[in-house]
Amino acid sequence: MVKKIRTAAFFLIIIILISAFSGIAVLKAKEVDGVDKVQVVKQGMVDSCEISWNKVSGANGYYIYAFNQENEKFEKIANVEDGKTLKYILKDLTPSTIYRLKVQAYKNFRDTEYTGDMSSECKIYTSPSQVVVDANSVSAGVMAVNWQNDAAVSGYEIQYSPKKEFDEKETSVETVDDPNSNTYDLKGLEEQKEYFVRVRGYFAVDEKTTAYAEWSEIQSATIAKTVKLPDHIDPNKPMLALSFDDGPAFNSATKRILDTLEKYGARATFYMVGSRISKSTKVHLDRQIKLGCELGNHTYDHKRYGKKVTASDISKCSDVIFDAVGQRPTSFRCPGGNMSSTIQKQAKKENMMIAHWTVDTQDWKSKDAKKIYNRATKLAYDGCIILMHDIYEPTADAVEKIVPALIEQGYQLVTVSELIQAKTGKPAKAGQQYLDYKTINNNTN
Ligand code: ZN
Repeated sequence: MVKKIRTAAFFLIIIILISAFSGIAVLKAKEVDGVDKVQVVKQGMVDSCEISWNKVSGANGYYIYAFNQENEKFEKIANVEDGKTLKYILKDLTPSTIYRLKVQAYKNFRDTEYTGDMSSECKIYTSPSQVVVDANSVSAGVMAVNWQNDAAVSGYEIQYSPKKEFDEKETSVETVDDPNSNTYDLKGLEEQKEYFVRVRGYFAVDEKTTAYAEWSEIQSATIAKTVKLPDHIDPNKPMLALSFDDGPAFNSATKRILDTLEKYGARATFYMVGSRISKSTKVHLDRQIKLGCELGNHTYDHKRYGKKVTASDISKCSDVIFDAVGQRPTSFRCPGGNMSSTIQKQAKKENMMIAHWTVDTQDWKSKDAKKIYNRATKLAYDGCIILMHDIYEPTADAVEKIVPALIEQGYQLVTVSELIQAKTGKPAKAGQQYLDYKTINNNTN
């Protein structure tokens, strides 16, 4: 009997012990620790970031929460369904934004999910996105920089330099602390010099941290030159601009035309073909500068017309002129006189106005001094641009008579840029095509 009782008591104790242990085990399985630390792995990119956290023992996965500004609550944004993965990459984020994140571990036990405490908050930020920039120079010594504004940023940084490499010594910085601004004038720049510019937005995350966007693509512009009218020019009296294409001449035409201009104190604009400029023809350019004439660009080799003219046909001609005399042309005329968007863009970039004409002497057709003279003197009017070519001797013959006759008629003979400056009170606009001082045609068809 006693033995039976002892045996029963023994089993009872065993059962009680088993129940107790399994109860503890169940409790233990339900218990989930809090995530004690969330760290930033990568941040400051435009639309992604990465966080990591310390392992929670026994966790089957982790929930990521982000603070929602609208309802002011932390909302679940992701489920990392693996207890061993301790990092997460957030994608498709908004640029220039601070995100507040929390992480929580969870366990699954007998079809029920148990969660631990949420971690403390971890802040991460994204950078502003890259801006699109445009630059041009319309007023003397000034480069206007324009960009697409981005209301999310705190401001913009503008870097400019005469060197494309933006080396430290020659690079200047301006800061614009208004996110809504989209234009800035860089002033006091060297006239006729090319400057490079780039812009980036910045986002002040907190007192210590600023996130910068990647720099924009580099843009450049040649700085506009002051058109200073010669002292003897009276802006209130009639004036016109003689213009000569296709030179410098290999015969004596350019020289003779310059002789006539010098004799009467007159000026003109020469639209030159880059490939014709050499050691032997450079003397004409030197003289044009000395007499106050304007250097014009008529493409490098006069092979392409209108829409077929490439940006390099134009820039190559400017470069040849610059290499010969140290000055860049300030006006452009296309072979045939046509316009295109490429011409417009390149002329704007190189700060050249585009000149057409309204008075055509047809010298290239008649090669007859008398006829050239008649057309020039009869069709001339106040503010016009007259077309001739300084490669024909009959044109030089005609100019010997045209210049004194026009002066006799009361006209002052100026360059194309001087004509527009004097008659409008403003410098000619780069990339804009003038037929005469007031007739503008920017049609590219
Ligand atoms: Zn031509």
